[in-house]
Amino acid sequence: MDIALTESQVMLRDMVRELASREIAPLAAQADREQEFPMRQFRALAAADLLGIPFPEEVGGMGGSTVDYVIALEEVCRACASTGVTMSVQTSLAASPIYRFGTQDQKKRYLEPLCRGERLGAYSLSEPGSGTDAAALACVAHRDGDDYVLTGTKVFVTNGFHADVYIVYATVDPALKHKGITAFIVEKGTPGFSFGKKEDKLGIRASSTYELLFKDCRVPAANRLGAEGEGFKIAMWTLDGGRIGISAQAIGIAQAALDACLRYTDERETFGKRLSDHQAIAFMLAEMATDIEAARLLCWRAASLKDAGKDHGEAASIAKLFASEMAMRTTTKAVQIHGGYGYTTDFPVERLMRDAKITEIYEGTSEAQRMVISRAELAAR
Ligand SMILES: Cc1cc2nc3c(=O)[nH]c(=O)nc-3n(C[C@H](O)[C@H](O)[C@H](O)COP(=O)(O)OP(=O)(O)OC[C@H]3O[C@@H](n4cnc5c(N)ncnc54)[C@H](O)[C@@H]3O)c2cc1C
Repeated sequence: MDIALTESQVMLRDMVRELASREIAPLAAQADREQEFPMRQFRALAAADLLGIPFPEEVGGMGGSTVDYVIALEEVCRACASTGVTMSVQTSLAASPIYRFGTQDQKKRYLEPLCRGERLGAYSLSEPGSGTDAAALACVAHRDGDDYVLTGTKVFVTNGFHADVYIVYATVDPALKHKGITAFIVEKGTPGFSFGKKEDKLGIRASSTYELLFKDCRVPAANRLGAEGEGFKIAMWTLDGGRIGISAQAIGIAQAALDACLRYTDERETFGKRLSDHQAIAFMLAEMATDIEAARLLCWRAASLKDAGKDHGEAASIAKLFASEMAMRTTTKAVQIHGGYGYTTDFPVERLMRDAKITEIYEGTSEAQRMVISRAELAAR
């Protein structure tokens, strides 16, 4: 694998870095404090054509690759992890399955506006009784003429209330277990579809996380994504790609923590010298940089496998597992390096540590990644 960035990838990275430091990073602390959805930041990404990076131009995308996408996403998350997850859900979880499994009509109506950032997307698989065990979902979809009628409760939906287009997973027959799960594209405002509780979270506090309520909600059969019973496959394929994005998010958060430490250790003095001149501190910086680089290579490897059309499920899980646990190690060290000040909101590292934690939980917990990786390794014996 060629691990050097191309000239155009360097240009993309530098462009997104500049945009994120100008229009996103300055808003991150306040957005976190006030739990303010990053709509302005989302619009800035849309204006720069960054919401459909890995999709062809004819469907409204940038015509780039998954590697291009994770390079850009890392820079956005380095500035603000809440804005980053908004971008990641839009591209990885809402647009991708429509691109891969949608009809021409669905691509025209939903994929193009998602790529252009004219509409905001969401992915709704989790339920009160099913998270890791996603196949146990209970939301039902009964066929009635030209419609399906959806009833059930979904939880933890990122972009929640603010989204316009939701990929919702429901079962046409619970007895069929995962073989009954079917995917639907549901528009906000559809009668019978409403919002429940908004989660009050530890981190990514500017991202909105909502409960969705479906009560006799009629969704046209034309909005079924893929075939009846194909939903579980669509959900898992989508998460394989999504996990590559979450590894990029973890790397961006960790890089922001290292950035903060490089600044602080150059300014703060103890025992008559700069913190960076104490070897114990300098070695922590070295460990952080090494950890981040290792995670970045795993992320790019998984992304390039996806671009090559190869099986990337295990590689995505490896990248996510390593990057998310690395982000927790790195941000915890960053708070330690800042001493008491790191524990306050005067510095960004406490927010980064809170933001890092979610990368070990959503789109499959670290335990779920270990299940995927160990199963793949055992199957290859
Ligand atoms: C902020 C946030 C945003 C989210 N966004 C979305 C979204 O947009 N769309 C969506 O559909 N979902 C979303 N989720 C849901 C998320 O994907 C789930 O929370 C996650 O998959 C874990 O499911 P759970 O919370 O039900 O935990 P559970 O499945 O109940 O697991 C609890 C614990 O047990 C462990 N565990 C479970 N089963 C096993 C096992 N077999 N072996 C070993 N350990 C096990 C888990 O790893 C975890 O540590 C979001 C969650 C949060 C917090």
